[in-house]
This record gives sequence, structure tokens and C-alpha cells, in this order.
Amino acid sequence: MSKIVDIVLEKKEYVYTKPFHIAHNISTSVVNIEVSVILDSGAKGFGEASPSFRVNGERYETLIHLKDFVKQSIIKKDVKRYRQIFEILDLLKAFPSMKAAIQFAVLDALSEEITIPVYQLLGGSKTEIETDKTVSIGTLEEMIKDSKEILNEGFKIIKVKVGENFKDDIEKIIAIAEATKGASYIIDANTGYTPKEALQFIDSVYKNGVDVALFEQPVAANDIEGLRLVRFYSHYPVAADESVHTKYDALRVIKEEAVDFINIKLMKTGVSDALAIVEMAKTANIGLMLGSMGESSIGINQSVHFATGVGGFTFFDLDSYLMIKEDKFRGKFKKVGPRMIVQ
Ligand code: MN
Repeated sequence: MSKIVDIVLEKKEYVYTKPFHIAHNISTSVVNIEVSVILDSGAKGFGEASPSFRVNGERYETLIHLKDFVKQSIIKKDVKRYRQIFEILDLLKAFPSMKAAIQFAVLDALSEEITIPVYQLLGGSKTEIETDKTVSIGTLEEMIKDSKEILNEGFKIIKVKVGENFKDDIEKIIAIAEATKGASYIIDANTGYTPKEALQFIDSVYKNGVDVALFEQPVAANDIEGLRLVRFYSHYPVAADESVHTKYDALRVIKEEAVDFINIKLMKTGVSDALAIVEMAKTANIGLMLGSMGESSIGINQSVHFATGVGGFTFFDLDSYLMIKEDKFRGKFKKVGPRMIVQ
């Protein structure tokens, strides 16, 4: 009694508590799609797609029309054989966030059916992870104020968005570090720098003693050579985010020795490619971070169970649900400040 009988897609719009400003992009709200996978037993699994036009070229308007196709593809399939269903969904190459939501909803439905939490289905590596929290681009004063608040809320890693003006950014990071002693930082340029700007930025920040745990996507997504250049001359570990969508992208940046870390996001990879990237990165001694797009708590739940189940991640940027207005918390995990705990 674990066959899929129905799939429901539902539009959900969430407003950011304040506009989310990253390099050359400001968002005031997100439009997500909630996916329910219903089994013949009545068990129900949930997933969420948070399409990003900037990163994935995805729009809600196209995703919502996939409903009939998805139904035709996987109805009557048995969720106990979820790898078989994943393979069919791997064909949704142009719709990675939809692939992620359905793949996770399939796992969640199986989890409800056999009453074993998803993180245990995936291996049960650990029961707890800890997320950073993000400061979006603003004036120096705003960014310092936000950083202090994040530290006071108990977050140990502050993620800071940069990438619009590297000279201003140097000043901002040094001032933020001065105001939040004891914290460490993930700096994310969201493709905003040239390789030379990135290296100047890194040099200046390093000379001022700032503890940068990770420098994310300094250069353009397709500039793998630029990424490698920055990686080799950087004092800090360098991560690919926008440069890696699929397992094939991960293979390329590993082969070309272009990064120290890969930032996986289920919204870019789905569950299946994320599984492949984790094993590839572990094998190649590349570090892993797990990030998010605009997921609500139900979407972040996917990443919490994935990360605790599979293990192998060092950094977590799973704070999108903390930045939007949501009626109620719907994750199947407990949150205690920055900690996210599964049982
Ligand atoms: Mn990023």
C-alpha cells in the first residue's frame, strides 16, 4: 500500500520581512509551489519548490503547468522503490526546483507510510545541524545593525552579501567584523566580482584579520577558470554556488580544481543530484555547504532531513524561512536558535 494515487500542486506566496538585496537583485516576495504526494494508503508527503529565475531560469508560471505531465509520469509508482521514481524525475532538467519538491515529497510519503523519518531513510548520519543567518546588502549602518542582531540571536556564522562594489564591500566587511567579534563569516558575492576584484577584496580583508570561513561564488557562474584563479590565490576557502547546478557541473569544478567547497541547494539539484554531488565531493576531498533559495519552513525541512540523513556538510545556509512571513512553522524538525534538530 505505498503506490502514488495523486499529486497536488499549490501556489504559495510569501513576503520577505524586509527586501532581500543581493548583488544586482532585490526581492520583496517569493512565489513557491507546494507539492503533496498522496498514496493509496492515504499517507501524504510534502515538498516545496522555490523557483529562482536568476539562478535556474525557472518561473512559477511554467512550473505550475507541469502537473499533468508529472501525474502521468509517476502515478501508480511505488514510493518504496523511490530510486526508480527519481530516475523518471531526473528528466525534469529544466525544472530543478520542481524535481526537488516531488522527489522529496516521494520520500516524505514513504516516511509517513512506514513511520521512519526521512533523515533515517537517507542514512541517519546525525540528528542536528546549525545554520548561519544572512545580512543582505544595505548601507554600512544597516549591515552592522543586522550583523549585531544575528550574533545576539545566537548565530555563530554570519553570512554577508557583497558583490556590487568591491571597494565599499572591503570597508563594510572590516567594520562588520569589528562590530561582531567572535563571529565567523561566509562572504557571498553572488557572481558580482571579476577575478582580480575578488583577489583584491580577499587580500584587504585578510590583512585586516577577518575570519572568513568561506568565500562564495566570487565570479561569474560560467567563469570556471576565474573561479580556479581566485581559489588558488585566496587565503580563504572558495565555494561554487551559481557555478554548480547539476552533478555534471560538480564533476567539472572538481576536475578543474576550481573550488574548495560546493554549495549544494536542493532547488538547483533535486534530491538525486544532491546525493551524487555529496559522494563525489567526499571522494575528491571537496567541502560541502547546503544552501537555500526562498523556501518556507516546509521547504527548509527538505534540506534539514537531507543534510542530517546524508551527512558530510560543513556549512549550512538554511535561513530563508527566517526571512519571510509565515503563518505557522511546518518543519518536521525542532529549531533552537541556529540549531535544527531531527528525531
Ligand atoms: Mn550563494
